[in-house]
Amino acid sequence: MTITVTIRPNGARTEVRNLPWDGRPGSGYAIIEDAIDASRRGQVLYSGGAFLVARGHTALLVRRLADRFGHVHVIQHGGTTQCVEACWNASPDTGLTCECSCAGTNHGSGHQLGRIVSESGPAGALSVAPAAAREYDVYRS
Ligand SMILES: [Zn+2]
Repeated sequence: MTITVTIRPNGARTEVRNLPWDGRPGSGYAIIEDAIDASRRGQVLYSGGAFLVARGHTALLVRRLADRFGHVHVIQHGGTTQCVEACWNASPDTGLTCECSCAGTNHGSGHQLGRIVSESGPAGALSVAPAAAREYDVYRS
């Protein structure tokens, strides 16, 4: 199984799944602590089948795990897509010329994307929805 690192927004801890286990108690903690240059115990948690570290360690964690094991799969959540009323009320025929950050996915749909966060912007109401997660692979450098 491929080691999978899941990155979430809003200060959530980064999750490591499918870490190879050599059968020795605590070795998973040791591998992750080593990967983030942990300065003390307690920086690596384990919950729900995943090792968890503070988000600030993510870049070093992914680099070190990829170098050690050869390959890490990353699932990166975060960010939002915005869409304005002028977009979703536009003609569906002009989707290719959409200048909204929804990039045309919601163009001419007649309804907001996600939830309304502002009623009166320059292009009408503003709605936001979570952006799709980005998945990619990192290999040994
Ligand atoms: Zn839009």
